[in-house]
Amino acid sequence: MRQPLVVGNWKMHGTRDFARGLVAEIVRRLAEFPRVEVSVCPPFVWLPTVVEAAAGSRLTVGAQTLSEHAQGAYTGEISAAMLIECGGRHVIVGHSERRQINGESSAIVAAKAVRARASGLTPIICVGETLAERQSESTERVIVQQLAPILAAPQAATLLVGCVIAYEPVWAIGTGETASPAQAQAVHAFIRRQVAAVDPALAAQLRILYGGSVKPANAGELFANADIDGGLIGGASLQADDFCAICRAAELYG
Ligand code: PEP
Repeated sequence: MRQPLVVGNWKMHGTRDFARGLVAEIVRRLAEFPRVEVSVCPPFVWLPTVVEAAAGSRLTVGAQTLSEHAQGAYTGEISAAMLIECGGRHVIVGHSERRQINGESSAIVAAKAVRARASGLTPIICVGETLAERQSESTERVIVQQLAPILAAPQAATLLVGCVIAYEPVWAIGTGETASPAQAQAVHAFIRRQVAAVDPALAAQLRILYGGSVKPANAGELFANADIDGGLIGGASLQADDFCAICRAAELYG
């Protein structure tokens, strides 16, 4: 039985006061979804504030990326050790915005996942196709390519224990377009089969999140699918009511 997981990706939004207030409200409402693991990923600079606001609760806090390097002359980068020292528990890697805007390749994403895992952080590894790739029926090929450096790693089975994968079709992120439950379920099942080829037991316990314009109105029908174990939530994670309603949907349908 996989515990549902809902993660908020705040991206580059909010002041310190906003961060503090949003977390206080989520913490206050955690009892509405006792079965669900709930996490938020604020901008780096608000991590200590958010960790402090979540202290004593079961809300966990993560980051939106990390360096693949342990330390050194990497101006502007943040290491896994720094995230852990700030109270981070997990980290998103390979979000499509970082793949597109920052040019992160699947090999770099894999290196970040390895670094995170080796340091004790849970990587949330994002994959997903563009609209053109979906329209040309290349979704599965793209997912295979994105996962290849991870699944082909000699330590793949060890790396993936405790990892999370997020399927985020690029055309659905921040657009208001959502994959239909059937489309999402089909890709999630495909991802699980890819992992099962490495280790069937691992695949059975792997949590695969859906991300892409998840809202209170569509969360339940997505989470009700067998291979969808929760959500990675962008825009809707910035409003406590919407985020908590999505967590509640995971409680009821996940
Ligand atoms: C995301 O950025 O990971 C995301 C899923 O965004 P949104 O929910 O706004 O589509």
